Amino acid sequence: MKKNKTFINGSWIEGTSGKTLQSVNPATGDVIAEVQENSLEDVEQAIQAAKESFYVTREWRDMDVQSRSDVLLKIADMVEERLEDIAETESMDNGKPLREAEADVDDAVHCFRYYAGLIRTPQSGVYGVNSNFGAMHSYTVHEPVGVCGLITPWNFPFLMGIWKMAPALAAGNSIIFKPSSDTVLSAIKMFEIFEKAGLPKGVANLVIGPGSTVGSLLAESKDVDMITFTGSTAVGQNIMRAAAGNVKKIGLELGGKSPNVIFADADLDAAVEWAMIGIFFNQGEVCCAGSRIIIEKSIKDKFVKRLSGRANRMTLGNPLNNPDMGPLVSKKHMQDVLAYIEIGKQEGAKLVCGGYRYEEGECAKGYFVCPTIFDECTRNMRIVQEEIFGPVVVIQTFETEEEAIVLANDTIYGLAGAVFTNDATKAIRVIKEIRAGITWVNCYNPAFSEAPWGGYKMSGIGRELGVHGLEEYQEVKQINMSLASGIPGWYKN
Ligand code: NAD
Repeated sequence: MKKNKTFINGSWIEGTSGKTLQSVNPATGDVIAEVQENSLEDVEQAIQAAKESFYVTREWRDMDVQSRSDVLLKIADMVEERLEDIAETESMDNGKPLREAEADVDDAVHCFRYYAGLIRTPQSGVYGVNSNFGAMHSYTVHEPVGVCGLITPWNFPFLMGIWKMAPALAAGNSIIFKPSSDTVLSAIKMFEIFEKAGLPKGVANLVIGPGSTVGSLLAESKDVDMITFTGSTAVGQNIMRAAAGNVKKIGLELGGKSPNVIFADADLDAAVEWAMIGIFFNQGEVCCAGSRIIIEKSIKDKFVKRLSGRANRMTLGNPLNNPDMGPLVSKKHMQDVLAYIEIGKQEGAKLVCGGYRYEEGECAKGYFVCPTIFDECTRNMRIVQEEIFGPVVVIQTFETEEEAIVLANDTIYGLAGAVFTNDATKAIRVIKEIRAGITWVNCYNPAFSEAPWGGYKMSGIGRELGVHGLEEYQEVKQINMSLASGIPGWYKN
C-alpha cells in the first residue's frame, strides 16, 4: 500500500519518525490507507517554514487583499471540482453517510468563498478623539497574527479544518494544520489543492501524528503565535496551559451536552423530526448534538413513543450507500459509547430504544451502535452530565418554565441549545436564559459560514465563522497620528 506523505514547506515529505499511521474504514474494519507519521523534528521544520514565510519572505502576508481573495476563490473552485472525491474519502474514513460528507464539502466551498469576499470589505475604524494632544487622527488596522497552529477532531474532519484554515489564510497568516489521527485523508486532499492553487512555500503546512506529541508541540512552541483547537474540553484545558508559555492567542471550540427544550404547545411532529436530527445526525458525533431532551411532562410519553418509533426504523449500513446512520469513527470510540450505555443502565435510566452494537448483515465487522434513548433520567446521572458523543439521548421532564431553564443550564457545558414552542414570546424568554453560544428555535443544527459559532462556559473561548471568525486570526493595531506641530503646553515642564 502506497504511503501518503505530509506537506511541509511546499513539499511532500517522507517524515523522519519511521512510524506509519493506518486509516481504517469504520464500516468494515479494513485498512484503507497508510500515512507517514511526523516526528517532532518534522513538526519543528513545519513551524520554522511557517515562521520564515510569515516573517522573512512575507509573500502571502503582504499580498494585496484582492489577489489573496482570488487565490481563496480558486481554492474554493478546486474543492468544488473534487467534491465527490473528497466526500467519498471522508465518508469511508469517518463513517458518515455520503450525503452528509457531500454537504460538509459543499459548506467548506462556501466558507472559502465567504472569507474571500469578507477580506475585501472595510474592517478598520476611525475614532473621534479629544484634543488634549492637539489635532489627532486615530484609526485601526487589522493585521494577521503570525504563525498559527490549528488542531481539529475527527467528527467533521474536512469542515472543521476549513472553519480554521479559510479565515486563518484569508487574514494572511501562515499555518500548521494537525488533523485527528483517526481521519487524516481529506486533509491530504486539501493540501494537494493548496499546492496546485499556488499558495507560497511555507504558508500552509500539514503535520500528522498523536495529539500528545505533535499537537502538544504546536501548543507549546514559542515560535507559534496562536493556537486554535477544536476537540474535547479536557484536551482544551491542556492546550490552554501549554499556550501560556508565550501567551499565545488562543481559540477553543470544545465539548457540549446541549439541551433541547420542548414545551407542550410545540408542533409535536416537527419537534420529533428535529430531535432526531439533533441527536442522530452524524451518528450523534456532533459537538452541538441535542443530547439532552428536556420535555414538558404532560407530553413526554406521547413524544417518547413517537421518537422511539422513528429511531427504531432508522437504517444502519455502509455509509457510501446513504443509510440513516453509519458506523462510529473507531472501535475505541464505539467501546466508549457502549460503556456509557452500560453506565446509564446501572444508573437506573430506562432504556426505551437501542442500547447495543449493531452487527447485522454488512454491519457485522463495523463499529455500529443503534440509536439509543434513555427515559426517566435525573440530573445527577453521568449520562446526563457527560458528553457521550454518540447516538445516545437522555430524556428529562419539567413542569414549569423556570424548571426547564434550570435543567437546560445544568451542566459544565454551554455550546448550544434549542427551544420548541408555538409561543414566540416564551421562545425568546427561554432562549435568552440558556447559557449557550448557538441556539435554535423550532429547529435544530443549522450552522452558516456567515454567523458566529462557539461556546459559553467550558465549551470554549472565542468564535469561529462570520466576521468574528476572521477577527480571531487578526491583531488590531491602533494608529494615532498627530496632525499638530509641537507638544501640547500642559505636557511640558
Ligand atoms: P480530542 O480532544 O481527543 O482530540 C482533538 C484533537 O486534539 C486531535 O487532533 C488530537 O490529536 C489532538 N490532541 C489530543 N491531545 C492533545 C494535546 N495534549 N495537545 C494538543 N493536541 C492534542 O477530541 P476528539 O475525540 O477528536 O473530538 C471529539 C471532541 O471534539 C468532542 O468533545 C466534541 O464536542 C468536540 N468538538 C467540538 C466542536 C465545537 O465546535 N465546539 C466541534 C467538533 C468537535
